[in-house]
Amino acid sequence: MALFKKKQAYIRINPNRDLNTTSPKVLPDVPDEMFAKCPSCKEVIYNKDLGVEKTCPHCGYNFRLPAMERLAILADEGSFEEWDTGIQTKDPLDFPKYKEKLAFTKEKTGLDEAVLTGVATIVGRKIALGIMDSNFIMGSMGTVLGEKITRLFEKATEMQLPVVLFTASGGARMQEGVMSLMQMAKISAAVKRHSNAGLLYLTVLTDPTTGGVTASFAMEGDIILAEPQTLIGFAGRRVIEQTLKTELPEDFQKAEFLLEHGFVDAVVPRNCLKETISSILTLHLTKGVWNND
Ligand SMILES: [Zn+2]
Repeated sequence: MALFKKKQAYIRINPNRDLNTTSPKVLPDVPDEMFAKCPSCKEVIYNKDLGVEKTCPHCGYNFRLPAMERLAILADEGSFEEWDTGIQTKDPLDFPKYKEKLAFTKEKTGLDEAVLTGVATIVGRKIALGIMDSNFIMGSMGTVLGEKITRLFEKATEMQLPVVLFTASGGARMQEGVMSLMQMAKISAAVKRHSNAGLLYLTVLTDPTTGGVTASFAMEGDIILAEPQTLIGFAGRRVIEQTLKTELPEDFQKAEFLLEHGFVDAVVPRNCLKETISSILTLHLTKGVWNND
């Protein structure tokens, strides 16, 4: 039996170790941000190889982009002017630890809500732009997010601008209960007024776009684009399978499946998005309806 006895020939690593006191000889000093693992093909990728668009070089998977990084690859440099910052939620349910969670998330992401809104130009075309960020409490829709997106449409209507909105959300924000669900109707009303003014609304669905956001403004665009492999749905896959007592196809709720079934107009690779949006804006540029000054 001595054959199977361990002789301590290798280093033991205690998973509960204090990283600050571990000898550098035991733990190689590799910065956390240096490598990323692709959630799709599982390859480990040197972060610099992902590029600014953060697309996997092996399988084309698009990593989730923070709003500021999305802005950097999309809008013309220096053209963005942010709107409606500093709106505070009233925390209507006095939800335990919600205020602390918000403060922590604001600090971590550098955003004041799960959406960044403002005016920008894309290849010289002026637009009202909204970018949701799934790093901010899963891009959930609370009262402040609802107010910011509503104002985005109202200002766009006033200024006769098209709206380009990037969606990314897990759905309604449970910490604000029914107040968060009301945002669906509130935003939809503003979208309708924008539409009545003859203005273009373009949505780009990014991973993940689910719940109340899908059930309202994400799918109300005149033109709906999606990034490849984006998860788009209302209820989760397991909920549907258990309710319908059936097995769903592998690609169910993926952008490509929705394109095939007519819910999405085009699936556009991330590196082609700016050019595609610019072309759509040019096609819809009608003199007298919205100008570019
Ligand atoms: Zn990959």
